[in-house]
Amino acid sequence: MLKIDLHIHTVHSGHAYGSIYEIMEEAARKKMDMIAITDHGPNMTGSAPASHFNMGSRAQKEYKGVKLLWGCEANIINENGDIDLTENTIKKLDVILAQMHLSTSYKDMGREKNTNAIINCFKNYPIHIFSHPDVMAFDYDFEKVCESACENNVLLELNLSSFGKIKEGKSNLERIKKIIEISRKHEKKIIIDSDTHFLHEIGNDDRLKEYWDELDLSDDIIINNYPDELMEFLENKK
Ligand SMILES: [Zn+2]
Ligand SMILES: [Zn+2]
Repeated sequence: MLKIDLHIHTVHSGHAYGSIYEIMEEAARKKMDMIAITDHGPNMTGSAPASHFNMGSRAQKEYKGVKLLWGCEANIINENGDIDLTENTIKKLDVILAQMHLSTSYKDMGREKNTNAIINCFKNYPIHIFSHPDVMAFDYDFEKVCESACENNVLLELNLSSFGKIKEGKSNLERIKKIIEISRKHEKKIIIDSDTHFLHEIGNDDRLKEYWDELDLSDDIIINNYPDELMEFLENKK
């Protein structure tokens, strides 16, 4: 079980099924240390309105011993790398993930411009985590983007919901291996998240155990194992 899980969607994402209260209860039951509520940004069809992301300051910070962070999985929406949150909202959030997603206003501009959009986002916004680098809604230069994340102090995510997925006959494990290799090269840690849409997924690391040897993982590169370092990173990059 993950003790820390910073990528959790609630009903406010439109295609996820736990309420915030059910999620807090489940995390407490699993004796987790810290979770983050990170619904899809407002640009995605069916997701929470912008006002949802401003409510975190009023949410409880802890529930039955589980620390609660308020965040967003923001959408990159154009070639400048802009995301679908205002500066004011960004300041209020504890954790910001970013990626390109379908069902948003982002228009595919081809590999080169898509790559630039992501890199511009890393340069211009205080992004903490680049979510599921291996799940590419639009084509981009995967290695270049991962390198840029490391150079711009953005954590690369190992997303447990995508582990072992097969797309067009190809497994994404090679890309996941590359994420680990590039992070190690830059002496950066990676973050492991569930990308929860259903309650049973919270903190569930069964897939991690399944692929641990094949991916040649080691505890020392996983920032979930270093809560103080993780908190300092989240707080300093705002
Ligand atoms: Zn996503
Ligand atoms: Zn997600």
